[in-house]
Amino acid sequence: MFVIPDRFSYTVAHSVEEAVELLHTLEDSKVLAGGQSLIPFMKLGYASPKSLVDINRIPNLDYLDDSGESLKIGALTRISRLCDSELVAKDYPLIHDAALQIADPLVRNLGTFGGNVCHADMGDDLPAVCLAMNAEMVASGPSGQRVLAAKDFFVDRFTTLLASDELLTEVRIPKNRRGCGGAYLKLERRVGDYAIVGVAAQLEVDGDGVCRSVGIGLTSASTKPIKASEAESWLVGKSLSDEVLDKASTLAMNTSNPLSDIRGPAEYKKAMVKVLTHRALKLAYKRARGGL
Ligand SMILES: Cc1cc2nc3c(=O)[nH]c(=O)nc-3n(C[C@H](O)[C@H](O)[C@H](O)COP(=O)(O)OP(=O)(O)OC[C@H]3O[C@@H](n4cnc5c(N)ncnc54)[C@H](O)[C@@H]3O)c2cc1C
Repeated sequence: MFVIPDRFSYTVAHSVEEAVELLHTLEDSKVLAGGQSLIPFMKLGYASPKSLVDINRIPNLDYLDDSGESLKIGALTRISRLCDSELVAKDYPLIHDAALQIADPLVRNLGTFGGNVCHADMGDDLPAVCLAMNAEMVASGPSGQRVLAAKDFFVDRFTTLLASDELLTEVRIPKNRRGCGGAYLKLERRVGDYAIVGVAAQLEVDGDGVCRSVGIGLTSASTKPIKASEAESWLVGKSLSDEVLDKASTLAMNTSNPLSDIRGPAEYKKAMVKVLTHRALKLAYKRARGGL
């Protein structure tokens, strides 16, 4: 049931510094990016901030830059840009897979990478991608900038490590080298829905197909986005046979602790974590070996 949100002030920030200053000084403030999660939350009465700080007019926060050591994604980069980018499609298939499966074109045109990860919903798709890719999250606050590891960023459902007066400005994704491949698989009730469960897998294999490193992030598999750490540890140093992938998928399933809800009972979701982990690892492996 929708409700009329409580009164709130609305201020437009024109720079990162101004946004941080506003977040610091205004009472009970929240960042407004694409508004695709925050506005529905306010209409549903789940959030009632007293002040909104609109960051959409801050220049230079919408970019994809792979000129350095990592792929840098500006926090205001719209999800649709990830879908349309040749660079992302070619070199970062895990991000591309996930972006294409988020909601519908209207939501993707407004929703931002930063908003999706800062919302920190267990059902949002990009947090699992950041976990699998060992991303770094760059935050600006009153005392300057700090860089947070994705594995520490997602504290609880709708809660990140960001302070209330900090702004996420950039997400840094390690560059895909030769031998790297990734995939995101999502089970949904219908196209555009939130995940029943989703699995992000990112692998690096050597010339013999032995796993050098791996990241596995899970969507809707707990009350917050989680990493399947035991499965990751099990895979490193092994040839990725079906038996090995099966054991890793079982470990990922055992790590998961999904909620029963309108998208299915917890037992079903756990079983699907196993199925999707196996398939996502297999596809990531194929891509790492140069296949599509
Ligand atoms: C119909 C519908 C279907 C959807 N389906 C999916 C789906 O299948 N998968 C999926 O992943 N998502 C889905 N979404 C959510 C969508 O992807 C949102 O875009 C995203 O979750 C939030 O991004 P936003 O830019 O709109 O953020 P906002 O709604 O503006 O903000 C979300 C939260 O993040 C905070 N925030 C935003 N940016 C920053 C920042 N730079 N620094 C600090 N805090 C910040 C805000 O204060 C707020 O708390 C759906 C949304 C709708 C409306």
